[in-house]
Amino acid sequence: MTMGPEDRNPDDASGDLAERKMRFLFALRSRGVTDARVLTAMERIDRGLFVRGIFADRAYEDMPLPIACGQTISQPSVVGLMTQALQVSPRDTVLEVGTGSGYQAAILSQLARRVYTVDRYRRLVREAGELFRQLDITNITAIAADGSFGLPDQGPFDRILVTAAAEDPPGPLLEQLKPGGIMVLPVGQSDAVQSLIKVTRGSRGFDYEELRPVRFVPLVEGLGSE
Ligand code: SAH
Repeated sequence: MTMGPEDRNPDDASGDLAERKMRFLFALRSRGVTDARVLTAMERIDRGLFVRGIFADRAYEDMPLPIACGQTISQPSVVGLMTQALQVSPRDTVLEVGTGSGYQAAILSQLARRVYTVDRYRRLVREAGELFRQLDITNITAIAADGSFGLPDQGPFDRILVTAAAEDPPGPLLEQLKPGGIMVLPVGQSDAVQSLIKVTRGSRGFDYEELRPVRFVPLVEGLGSE
């Protein structure tokens, strides 16, 4: 039996929301996000809180959406696949470059011991920080900085996730990866399809694995104007 809109109780907006969230999780699974811990984190962190204004309505659809400062919140299935590829364990300290809305950092906070997240826009860092407080997430430190230099004072890191595309993995980030550490990042020209790659730091150097084509906003030098 299919239910039409007329069959729903008009006062019960939450019923509809629950259904949208269920479809959201189903879409993640069907696109390859199968890690139970990642799915649990994505069930717990409500993407609806990280999308504002006219696009808030589309928060549970599997698509990137515009956020402040001309940036984007990534597509949920890509967030899931990147988080899965990062193989975060509960004792890990993670660096995320590109806080954006704070959504990816919030998911990482459920899987890691501590998360540092940096963005070149102070406004995005401030607004994400407000959301983390509102959600009682206490293991994220959000900092306004040019993330291509990493955070030398807080590193080295067990895991690094970059959510903006560089032409090559930035040297300082490779340096700040612990032996045995994993970094996941998009590489390629900003106006073309990029490759998501996984870098593992072994005892004798770095191992590179290409995961899938992706499209991210570019990693830009220096601090932003807002
Ligand atoms: N992870 C985010 C999406 C990030 S969009 C989320 O979950 O919503 C990419 C972000 O990278 C943008 O906010 C952009 O400002 C930021 N960025 C680009 N270049 C940067 C740099 N050099 N250092 C830090 N952040 C940068």
